[in-house]
Formats: sequence, structure tokens, C-alpha cells
Amino acid sequence: MNSRIVILGAGESGVGSAILAQKKGFDVWLSDAGQIKPKYKQVLSNYAIPFEEGKHSEDEILKAAEVVKSPGIPEKAPLVKKIREAGIPVISEIEFAGRYCQAKTICITGSNGKTTTTMLTYHLLQKAGLHVGLAGNVGHSFAWQVAEQNFDYYVIELSSFQLDGMYAFKADVAVLLNITPDHLDRYDYKFQNYVDSKFRIIQNQTKDDFFIYWSEDPVIQQELKNRTIAATCMPFAYGQAPENGAGINKDTLTINWNKNTFSMSIFDIALQGKHNVYNSMAAGLAGKVLNIRNEKIRESLSDFRGVEHRLERFLKVHGIEFINDSKATNVNSTWYALESIHRPIVWIVGGVDKGNDYKELEQLARDKVKAIVCLGTDNKKIVDFFTGIVPDIIETQDIKDAVRASYYLAKDGEVVLLSPACASFDLFESYEDRGRQFKMAVREL
Ligand code: ADP
Repeated sequence: MNSRIVILGAGESGVGSAILAQKKGFDVWLSDAGQIKPKYKQVLSNYAIPFEEGKHSEDEILKAAEVVKSPGIPEKAPLVKKIREAGIPVISEIEFAGRYCQAKTICITGSNGKTTTTMLTYHLLQKAGLHVGLAGNVGHSFAWQVAEQNFDYYVIELSSFQLDGMYAFKADVAVLLNITPDHLDRYDYKFQNYVDSKFRIIQNQTKDDFFIYWSEDPVIQQELKNRTIAATCMPFAYGQAPENGAGINKDTLTINWNKNTFSMSIFDIALQGKHNVYNSMAAGLAGKVLNIRNEKIRESLSDFRGVEHRLERFLKVHGIEFINDSKATNVNSTWYALESIHRPIVWIVGGVDKGNDYKELEQLARDKVKAIVCLGTDNKKIVDFFTGIVPDIIETQDIKDAVRASYYLAKDGEVVLLSPACASFDLFESYEDRGRQFKMAVREL
């Protein structure tokens, strides 16, 4: 029998898959068209896993019984097409590792809020004393942990790209936060394809499993009309909490499950902003269905310290608060950032626009933004749109200039918010790099 597994891509997930495959006795071979990071090369050598870099040798790859593909490699890539034409199954790291994982899985997806909710849920399970691993887009590779750890639970952040390579995997607890158009270039510009991908989070679930979702989301609502859900549904939304599910009423968050009620004031939730109330409901629901005690849920939701670059309240300088929301790379996430702040804002915005419609931000900008500092190589669209809406607009192409300008524009008690609504790669390596440079520039003030 052919026991060859080929891994495409030597990032965290590829290297983890290679280790797991080797431990399970497969004939493993890894191929990366780019340069492999030295730390991963070292790991592959330590495990004596054969690999190539800088190319994909098709003849070697096409000998595979199965291919584990990095989510970064698009389905349209010619090599992937050839593999499929040869009838070789292509799966994701999560699918592969799921075969060997006995632990309970809590899987989180959505267009926005995945990392925050994943980290918050992980924090909650840890505080409850469970032996839990963090995996998927954050933390270490799931496959690697399945190979070498012995966790009872995993909290896994899943992007649509990972979900696309999942077939038999089942989440014990599935969380779907929201669906707004994103990555359409990978889905033949058909929104429904992207929606279908997100809904793979509940595939293979049975009545013993749970499906936690935002029931006010119009896209999710519409989709649910066409589907029968096998799992126990646990919706969350503003309004009265349902018999099983979560709600917000008169500033109180309530979660009902199995005739047991949890409640806390939304003012005691550590993460601020409406979006984070959703994320907190989702995490709280996951905790509740895992039978975590109410005090532990309350404690975790109130002492969670947040995730870097996501509405991170970084520093106050002369009474001006600097907030780093560099991860906001689309209009939707910036909407939530602006919505969550109740003081005058100097807003640093711009970068690579992925087809933004700033109309969605118009009202919030009118009400809250006293000045805009553009940060990008091409700021025309922002300047054109917000002229006449925001009193002061200035242009910069350097983070230090942007921070200094904001500092002069803001007054004691006001906020400087970096929430770019755009990707970062015109001026930065990544959104993390943008966030870090922002914080460095603030420190230098
Ligand atoms: P993801 O991992 O899905 O990209 P993050 O947790 O990293 O999401 O958050 C990215 C940005 O999205 C944050 O900066 C925040 O402004 C916004 N955001 C977070 N949660 C939500 C939500 N539930 N709905 C809409 N926007 C959100």
C-alpha cells in the first residue's frame, strides 16, 4: 500500500503535519516552493524528515497517496489542479490531525473576531483548570500538538481556507461568529462559496454536539433557512436570552443552558466594544456547554487582557490614549472599533484598500472623529471621501509622522486610534509590524 504523505508548505502547520505523519509511520515528504525558515529546517532535520525548498518537484509530489496542503496555497494553483487531476486527495492540517485526536475540540470561525474569541475561550478553559491546547491560526500547530502533547481539549481558530480542506473532521463545539464578504478572490467571486466554506464548521456534527452562532447575522439567518442542523443550537444576540443561548438585556449578559442561568453586567466585561460583547457571549456559551462553573466564566470574561493589535489600549501620553487596532484590515472591523470609543478620536487610517466602501463609516466618522491622519502610499480615496465629513484631514506616509501628527491634534481625554481598515503591505511587512511600529513611535513621544 502506498503510505506516502506529501506536505505542501513548511510553515507552522506543514511542519506540524510532517511530524505527526512521521510519528504515525507514514513515508513523509515535504515540499515548499519558497525558502523555509531556518527554525523549521532545523526541526525537519531533527526529525529526519526529507524535504525540498525553492521548488515543487511534481514527479515526487504526484507519488503521494494523500497531500496535506498549507491553507496559504490556493486551490487554483496549477500544482493543486494537477494533484486533483491525478485523483490524489488534498486535505488540510486540521483534517489530518483530527484523525488522531481524541480530545474535545472547540472550533471557532467567522469573518471577524476569530482570534479574540479563540484566545478568550482558551483563557476561560485554562482558568477552569482544564488541560487545554490552543491551535489553528493562533498558537502552535494542531498536528504538532496532537503528535506530542496529551491535551483533553483544544480551542482551534479556523479560517475558511482551513475549513476548505476539511471533510471528516468534526467539531464538538462549533462557533460561527459572523459572515461578511472577505477573500472573495479565492471563492470565484461567489459569496455563497465563501458562506458554504464557513458552514463547514458544523459538518459531521451530531445531536451530542453544539453549534454556537450569532443569530442576528443576516447571512447566517438566511443560510439557516436552507439547512437542518444536527447539533444543539446555542444562538447569541442582543435582546432577551433564549431558553438555550445568550442575550444582552438592559446591560446584563445572560446565558441560559439546561435550565441553568449565568449572568453578569456588561460593564464588568474586560474587552470593550459591542463586537467584544458578541465575542464574550460566544466564549461564555462554549464555557457553559462544557459545564464550566459560573464563577469561572465570570472571572475569565472580566480579567481577560485582550490580544495584541486588536483594540489594544496601549498607553496614555499626557492624557491622550493611544489604541492599537492594527489588525483591523477591513471596514467592518474598523466600524466596531469606532463604535466602541466614546471620546473624540484622532483616527489613523489607510494602507492597501481591498475595495473599501467608506460609506459604512460615514456616520461614525461624523459623530466621533475630530481628525483623520492618513497613513498610506495612496490616500486619495480616503481624503476624497471624508472631506467635508471630518474637519481635519492630513496625509502621512510614515508611522512616526502619523503618530506625531495625531499627538498634536488630540487633546487631554481624547483618543488616538490606529484602525487602518486596510491591509498593511504598502508600508509594512504585516499588520503585526504596523502595530509594533505604532507602539514604538508612541513610546518615543
Ligand atoms: P480575526 O481573527 O477574525 O481576524 P480578530 O479577533 O483578530 O479577528 O479581530 C480583528 C478585528 O476585527 C479587531 O481589531 C476588531 O476591531 C474586529 N472584531 C473583533 N471581533 C469582532 C466581531 N465579533 N465582529 C466584528 N468585528 C470584530
